[in-house]
Amino acid sequence: MNNYISSKNLIAPFKKGVLFNLRSRMFMAFGALFIIILVMLKCIEIKGIPFTNFGGEYLQQQSEVFRNLNLVADLKKERLLQWIEERRDDTKVLAESSIIQFYIKSILTEIEKNVRRGRRRDDLWNEVRNAKTYQTLMQHLNLVKGRRGVYQSIQFVDAETGTIIASTQNADLGVNISSTNHFKRALNSSDTFVDIEKIPQSTTDLIITSLIKSENPHNESKNKVLAVLIMHINPDDMLKPMERLDKISEAFLINRDLKIITLLKHPLADGRIAKPLEYHITSKPAILAVRGEQGLIATNDYRGEPVLAAYRHIPIASEVGWGMVVKLDKAEGFAPLRRSIVYSALFILMSIFMILVLTFIMANNFSRPIQILSRTLQKVEAGDLNARAQISAANDVGILAGTLNTMLQRFQIWRETLEKQVQVRTAKLSSTNDELTKEIIQHKEVEETLRESEERYRTLVSNIDSAFFRCDENWTIHFISDGIQEISGYPASDFIRDKVRSYPSIIHPEDIKMVTEIASDCLSKKIPVEVEYRVVCADGKIRWVRKKSQGIVNRNGKLAWIDGVVFDITDRKLAEEALKVSEEKYRKLVDNSLVGVYKTNINGDILYVNEALSRMFEFESPTEMISVGALARYKNKKDTKGLVESLKKTGKIDNFEMEVVTKRRKTKNILTSATIDGEIISGMVIDITERKRAEKECGRLIRELVDKNKELEHIVYAASHDLRSPLVNILGFSKELEYASKQVHSVLQNGEVSSQLKEKLAPILEEDIPEALQYIFKNTSKMDSLLSGLLQFSRTGRTALTIKQLDMNKLLSDIFEAFDYQIKKAGANVTKVKLSLCRGDMTQINQIFSNLLDNALKYLDPNRPGIIKISGHKAKSQIVYCVEDNGIGIAKEHQGKIFEMFYQLNPGTSSGEGLGLTIARKILDRHKGKIWVESERHKGSKFFVSIPAK
Ligand code: ADP
Repeated sequence: MNNYISSKNLIAPFKKGVLFNLRSRMFMAFGALFIIILVMLKCIEIKGIPFTNFGGEYLQQQSEVFRNLNLVADLKKERLLQWIEERRDDTKVLAESSIIQFYIKSILTEIEKNVRRGRRRDDLWNEVRNAKTYQTLMQHLNLVKGRRGVYQSIQFVDAETGTIIASTQNADLGVNISSTNHFKRALNSSDTFVDIEKIPQSTTDLIITSLIKSENPHNESKNKVLAVLIMHINPDDMLKPMERLDKISEAFLINRDLKIITLLKHPLADGRIAKPLEYHITSKPAILAVRGEQGLIATNDYRGEPVLAAYRHIPIASEVGWGMVVKLDKAEGFAPLRRSIVYSALFILMSIFMILVLTFIMANNFSRPIQILSRTLQKVEAGDLNARAQISAANDVGILAGTLNTMLQRFQIWRETLEKQVQVRTAKLSSTNDELTKEIIQHKEVEETLRESEERYRTLVSNIDSAFFRCDENWTIHFISDGIQEISGYPASDFIRDKVRSYPSIIHPEDIKMVTEIASDCLSKKIPVEVEYRVVCADGKIRWVRKKSQGIVNRNGKLAWIDGVVFDITDRKLAEEALKVSEEKYRKLVDNSLVGVYKTNINGDILYVNEALSRMFEFESPTEMISVGALARYKNKKDTKGLVESLKKTGKIDNFEMEVVTKRRKTKNILTSATIDGEIISGMVIDITERKRAEKECGRLIRELVDKNKELEHIVYAASHDLRSPLVNILGFSKELEYASKQVHSVLQNGEVSSQLKEKLAPILEEDIPEALQYIFKNTSKMDSLLSGLLQFSRTGRTALTIKQLDMNKLLSDIFEAFDYQIKKAGANVTKVKLSLCRGDMTQINQIFSNLLDNALKYLDPNRPGIIKISGHKAKSQIVYCVEDNGIGIAKEHQGKIFEMFYQLNPGTSSGEGLGLTIARKILDRHKGKIWVESERHKGSKFFVSIPAK
């Protein structure tokens, strides 16, 4: 075993490492060596060999760049100086020309003359401008300007006042420039002065000045400065050649204040564009150049970029010098070198790849036999002894492979022999093992069954609220199960051999005697003991138990043990107790109830009746009634049969009405409900004799009422009908009377009647009689309308109804049309929503809604625009319509009375008779409908009408 492990350990590192390492090491060694050599060679080529003269390509490139920069810088400096010199010469020629001096003098004299004359400024300069001399000077100057083509303007400035006295720009004339720098500098310099400046309201100008002096033939030093010649030159002509460089290099000029003169090629490091004559440059070559030095430098430029630069000092005038910098970005300067490095790197990579491929092929050839050996050994390790190393080379590896193959062959033979022996032995072991397994399984099954049964027993014992015990004849406990703790709260161990307490000690003192007696009695009779008693628990509470025990006798017939079980029956006892109480309560309830309660068997034998029932049947007590029996009391045998039959059929009866005869032979009506349970019928009885009598009486009264009503209606009809004809007579005769009185009056007026009589009759004929007649007319017409109302009322009750489905929308539209005049007169807004259909007599329903609309219009509030709305909704089998107005409303106390006949809130003022709502209610009574009102004074009323939908 140990040998095997160690051989495996030997093979493991061989398998993982050798071949891989061999090949990769060869790879890495060759590859790395080659790379290092190549890289070193390239580095030497670029950087050179330290401490020798060989500086490498880098230094070569740098000096090449510097040489070029030097050349460019010199060339540019030369051209610039030459150009400036040309301009200076032009200026000098002009300034020193005697003709110019003459012109200037004449102009100055002219000005002086005009000033003396006190000319106004404008006139003065006009005068000067128009003078012949001035014109000729201008011609001359324009000629110079045109020929050179670089001058923007040529000015002559009075040296004393600083006023421009002549200029190629007309507008300049008369302008005072005494405060300008270039004027001041020009005056202070002895010769020509050159500078570049930013002239206000103008672009950058190159300014060349020269002094014009009046020649003193006697003393040159006494030459007086007449004027200053200022030549403004567009600097572009000078600067353009500066900018003309290749794409990658840059040249710029700096004035003596280190401000740039030319535009910079690149924006500054912060992205701004530097403005000429504003941007102050601080790069090293610029400072050196302005300071008067010249040379080459590798430094950072104004952007902070590394550059190679050539700087030159440009002496502009004797006291003024500019700087010039020609520079090239280092990156650009070394671009060819960089390219060469990239090509070299590519070459190196290609070479490395080639070498690696070559190395791989070589290493593969070299390592293949070892690989075959390794694979063979791996197979052997995996258990394949048939594996052989197929190597035929005639070298050391070939011999090694041959030896390995022979060894493997031997191993194979040993293994086969061993395997056979193992097989025989294994077969034997396996049969023994099978037998053992069977035995174990059987054993386990028995164990499992035992465990299950024990578990079942344990669960059973622990699930029943009981304690098993064994004690001797002296009640000393020898065994008691843990259940006793559940029951009494004391642990079982307390009772064993009366260790802490004896079992009888926990029996309730009131029960102990009874328990002992029963137990002794049963034991002596050799019958099982069964007794229920109370125990006092550990927490002081009382629990009920039931003990069952039996004496066990030995072979000699003597009592050996008493075995038994104690059950906890507290819950049952409490339930029984509660049941008893509740039964008692219900019994009392039933006994004292006003409803009769009974229990009989199917044959009608009374088992129980309460007090109320016996009283109902006029017996002295329930006992008396029970002794007589109930069936005998049923008056009608059919009732009895019906009751029993429906009880049998449905198991119960509800409110079964029947007649019975009491003990004193009185007939009574009763209502009984009962249920049957097996043979037993239980039920209740209510005495409805009184109710029956009342119902009969009520029916009779209603009939009487209907008759009376009819009679009344008839009287109303007859009265209203018959009273109308005398009324018409009264009205007719009153008219007659009125006519007669008018005639008497006219006879009196025109006839020959004594004035005394006239005077006496006048008040009677003119006042008393007309007044009385008016009174009669008013009252008869009131009576007439009252009677017609009454007539209508009585007709409403008598006319036959034609009930059909009514389209309420149409019906109300018709009513609206009929009331058109009143609606317009009242100025009311009357609307309705879509209404549901209902069933009724069209004429009468029309009457209701006409009355309601009439009222709504009549009782509108004059102080606000009237709004009347008719709506409706379904409520169960009825449709409830609502006529709503915003009129004067009805106070609460009147709302119930308005439906009464002739009831009016304001009888004097209203035009009605107090019958409209009475008629509506009567109609609705006949339709099984209803009318009611909801109203608030000063706000409005809602009259609801409910009519059956079907
Ligand atoms: P009338 O012919 O006097 O209108 P009704 O029976 O129709 O008789 O009405 C009884 C009384 O109910 C009326 O006198 C009036 O005072 C009151 N009434 C009826 N309808 C309205 C209403 N829409 N608004 C205010 N009061 C009303």
